[in-house]
Amino acid sequence: MRAADLAADLLDVLATEEQIHAKLDEIAAKVTADYAGKDLVLVGVLKGAVMVMADFSRALPILVPMDWMAVSSYGTGTRSSGVVQIRKDLDTDIHDKHVLIVEDVIDSGLTLSWLLDNFAARGAASVEVFALLRKPEAAKVHIDCRYVGFDIPNEFVVGYGLDYAERYRNLRDVAVLAPHVYS
Ligand code: IMP
Ligand code: MG
Repeated sequence: MRAADLAADLLDVLATEEQIHAKLDEIAAKVTADYAGKDLVLVGVLKGAVMVMADFSRALPILVPMDWMAVSSYGTGTRSSGVVQIRKDLDTDIHDKHVLIVEDVIDSGLTLSWLLDNFAARGAASVEVFALLRKPEAAKVHIDCRYVGFDIPNEFVVGYGLDYAERYRNLRDVAVLAPHVYS
């Protein structure tokens, strides 16, 4: 579905499907050049990164394995604490592999910083991050996110994999969720 199908629930559309696809092509070209001759593995963080992974991996002109992690981070209220529990671990060994983590959005960055440490401890040759979206909070933590799709304002967004209470993931565009939906 498109943002127009959900107009009553959404405010601004921050990235249309067409803009997202153009951006993924751009980043795919960079990644292809940066990882030439390297053993690259894409690791997606479930569930939000499913759409980004599907489209980004197919935008690459090279064969690349994909693996998945599911994690939950515990915190008070809506803030993540950085304490992370693995709900589904990788199926493959990333030792000596060049890992590119594919994420939907970086907000506090706490989940990602935990993942970076965890993958480094497994002996990955390198660990880098591609986040489709980045919020301003992310600037406060020291996360070197090598590839960023769109810098967005500090708003709650849905679509293209991002959910509110498991809804809106199958929206093709990324849009700000209207506050009346969650308040
Ligand atoms: P953090 O960077 O550790 O704060 O957590 C980022 C995770 O929180 C993302 O992977 C999303 O699953 C979720 N998240 C953060 N901001 C949003 C949003 O605006 N909409 C939907 N999910 C979000
Ligand atoms: Mg996520």
